[in-house]
Parts: sequence; structure tokens; C-alpha cells
Amino acid sequence: MTQNATQTLHIVGGGMAGSEAAWQAANMGVNVVIHEMRPKVETFAHRTGHLAEMVCSNSFRSDDDEQNAVGLLHWEMRAANGLIMATADKHRLPAGGALAVDRDPFAESVTETLMAHPNISVEYGEITELPSEGHWIFATGPLTSTALGAAIQAETGADRLAFFDAIAPIVYADSIDMDVAWLQSRYDKGETEEEQKAYLNCPMSKDQYEAFIDALLAADKTEFHEGETAGYFDGCLPIEVMAERGRETLRFGPMKPVGLTNVHRPDDKPYAVVQLRRDNALGTLLNIVGFQTKMKYGAQTEVFKMIPGLENANFARLGGIHRNTFINSPTLLDDQMRLKSRPNIRFAGQVTGVEGYVESAAMGLLAGRLASAEILGHVLDTAPLNTAMGALVHHITGGAEAKTFQPMNVNFGLFQPVDGLKGGRRGRKDRYKAYTDRAKTDWQSWLAAQD
Ligand SMILES: Cc1cc2nc3c(=O)[nH]c(=O)nc-3n(C[C@H](O)[C@H](O)[C@H](O)COP(=O)(O)OP(=O)(O)OC[C@H]3O[C@@H](n4cnc5c(N)ncnc54)[C@H](O)[C@@H]3O)c2cc1C
Repeated sequence: MTQNATQTLHIVGGGMAGSEAAWQAANMGVNVVIHEMRPKVETFAHRTGHLAEMVCSNSFRSDDDEQNAVGLLHWEMRAANGLIMATADKHRLPAGGALAVDRDPFAESVTETLMAHPNISVEYGEITELPSEGHWIFATGPLTSTALGAAIQAETGADRLAFFDAIAPIVYADSIDMDVAWLQSRYDKGETEEEQKAYLNCPMSKDQYEAFIDALLAADKTEFHEGETAGYFDGCLPIEVMAERGRETLRFGPMKPVGLTNVHRPDDKPYAVVQLRRDNALGTLLNIVGFQTKMKYGAQTEVFKMIPGLENANFARLGGIHRNTFINSPTLLDDQMRLKSRPNIRFAGQVTGVEGYVESAAMGLLAGRLASAEILGHVLDTAPLNTAMGALVHHITGGAEAKTFQPMNVNFGLFQPVDGLKGGRRGRKDRYKAYTDRAKTDWQSWLAAQD
């Protein structure tokens, strides 16, 4: 139910996150001004001046709220009267179990609904500074304008704002064959046993390595968009580009076999070793170190399953390299999504280091509610940890490794285990159902407490 507006929340960026944040705040009785730079200032990916434009695929991915984490996030947003989900449902296209959307009517409808709301106005123009007064949410997305990017860097430090993601594939720890792989840091480095066993190692023979390089070179790759590449190559070469530079390059780079002993076959010196490292505090997710790639998704699963120990791997996310502006949220944001150094400013959406339309809208929903509660003088705890929303926000504001922080999709690896349920592939269906049941109960309680 819409209440009368009392105070103003400024939202910079009218994309997925900004649009949802505005809707939530306006419905809580807060006056909202959306500042959107398009169509005055364009990006290389957007085509229109509409709010909530889908820049590439038209899919919101799986709509299964019992067995899929993004489907659960759909469910949570619907339960919270989310505008992005309601409009996506209205403009749904046939796509099996996925939620595909008729993109232009979708964006037009979001724009019209927001502009018709009595508590919302839209100002078109670029914001280039971080204001020190008032309540603000910055939801400027992966293509944050250059001037604003510079202002964010000035506030956070240059190394806390990235302009590209270089995502190595992330694997569910319980899908790795530990009869093949073993835990060991190179030269057993580290003070504690945990540090000495910080890496999971997958050994390769010479034949396996040669076959792997052949597959890498032959795999289908994605091209960069025009205008997307400037300056990204330093320090994050895709593995296939390393392989193109020489068949031995990877063996002297991320796959070097030195300082490691295969505990299963100590006399057998591996020709190359693929290393994985913990990607979250729970230890349920591991990233393949140095394996950022522009291979197409289908090719990635085929090629990475050639790695001994990963034959049956489940991927929480596949690798990629994209133009993507995002902050180091684990060090910069508090659990209310506020910039620690300037608490009048929140960040939301893809710029916080989540990835995807749905996740970005979800972070907008949460930031909109948190900011509005603060403006209205209420205390609102952040989303419960066991919900999809809570698992995601907890990951970006603390659970993720800050040093290697890269954008993240929602996935069950971010969830706390449910006591008494089996790990591994066999127990997966029951486990996912238990996660989603638990999440729905907790989410409804969180919402009910706000009525
Ligand atoms: C090329 C490309 C392809 C992608 N493909 C997909 C895909 O297929 N599927 C998927 O789920 N995700 C995809 N993404 C990620 C996608 O952009 C995000 O998931 C989603 O749009 C992020 O929502 P957001 O609200 O955070 O940012 P956006 O939706 O990008 O919204 C940010 C808004 O802020 C505005 N803005 C930026 N700077 C300023 C400023 N200084 N002042 C005022 N306004 C400003 C922008 O114009 C924009 O409208 C892609 C991203 C890119 C760059």
C-alpha cells in the first residue's frame, strides 16, 4: 500500500537495481528521485532511454523456486511485491522452465509504472560526484560512467574499484573427486594446517595436459563488444590466450606442478597441476586459480571436465571476462549496504559485485527497503542469512574473499548447510528443497515483521 511521501531518497541509475529500489522506497512512503543519465549520456550496450533496459539476453534464468537458487530469488522478490518480477511475469515469453521476457514492453512498462507513481520523479542527467548530504543509493551498474567511476575511486582508493571482471570458474566443493585431488599449498607454505592445505590440486600427466591444451585451442570463444576491451589485458589474460602464446605457457604459469606432492601417488610427479582455492568462508565453493576465460559456456564445461578430479564437477558459475565496474564490497560496505566511509551512501545492483539482472534487481529491492527504513526512523535488519537474498548480500558484504573478490551469481553454495542432510550429488535434490523451504519461511517472517 502506498503511503504519503515524507523524505527524499536519491537513486542514481534507473536500471534493474535502481528501478526496484525506487519502487520499494516509494511504496514505503519515501519520496524518490531517480537520476538516470540515459538518453543524454549513452553506454555501449544500452539502446534506449527506458528504465530497466535488458542489455543482452532476455532471460531471467530458471523459475524453479524449489531446486534452483535464482528461481528462489524470483520467489522472494514476488513475495516482496517486486516490480521487476511482476513486470517480467506480465511480459513472459514461452521458454520452458526459464523466465524469458519480451524486453521492450518490459522496460516500457517498468518506466511507465515508476513515472506514474506519486512518490517518484525522474531527472535525466549524469551524476559525477558522491554527495556528502542526503540519502543516496548508487545503482549505476557495470557501465558506470567514467566521471562517476573516478569519483568512486577517489573515495575508495583505486584498487577497490574494478573496471573488468576476470572470472575464473567456480566449482561446488562436494562435486570434486577427492580420490584424485588433494589439499596442499605449494611448498606447504603457511603457519597453520588450514593455510598449508589452502589449495585443492588436480594432477595431469603429459598426455592429459596435451589433450587439454588441444581442447582449449579448439574451443568456441566469445568476442568482445566494440569499445569494451580498452586496457583489460594486464594481469588477467584468458587461459586460452596464454595457451595460444605457447603450449608450455600454462605449465609455467597457473598450472605449474612445482612444490606439490600427489598424496595418492607420491612417486608419480605430475606434469601439470590445476589448483583450486576457497571462494567463500563456508568452503563450499572453490575457484579454479587463474582460469579466467572467454570460452563459451558449453565449451567451458566440456574442457574443464577433462581436468582429473573434475570429471563430475558442478559449476556454481562459469568463467568470463567482461567490462564491469564493481567495488570491493566486502571491504567497503557494511551489512546495511552503506559505504562505511560515507554512510549516507548505499550501493546496489551489479556495481556491488553481484552478477545478473535478477541478482541486481534483488540488491535494489533490499537497498531500497533498508534506506527507506532508515529515513523513516525504523531499524530494519538486513535480509536473513538463510534466504537467497540474505545469502547473496552476506556474500558480498562479508562472506566472500575480499582479495580475490569477483562478481557472483546467486547459488546454493552460498547457503549454510542444513543439519542432518547428505552432501554430494546424491543428496542434492533433498538438500535444495530443504534450502528453499527454510528460505521461504525466513523470508516471510522478515517481510511480516515490516508490516
Ligand atoms: C554487455 C553486457 C551484457 C550483459 N548481459 C547480461 C545478460 O545477458 N544477462 C544478465 O543477467 N546480465 C547481463 N549483464 C549484466 C547486466 O548489465 C546486469 O545484470 C544488470 O543490468 C545490472 O543491473 P544494474 O541496475 O546494476 O545496472 P544497469 O541495469 O546497467 O543500470 C545502471 C543504470 O545506471 C545508469 N548510469 C550509469 N552511470 C550513471 C551516472 N553517472 N549517472 C546517472 N546514471 C548512470 C545507466 O545508464 C543505467 O541505466 C550484461 C552486462 C553487460 C555490460
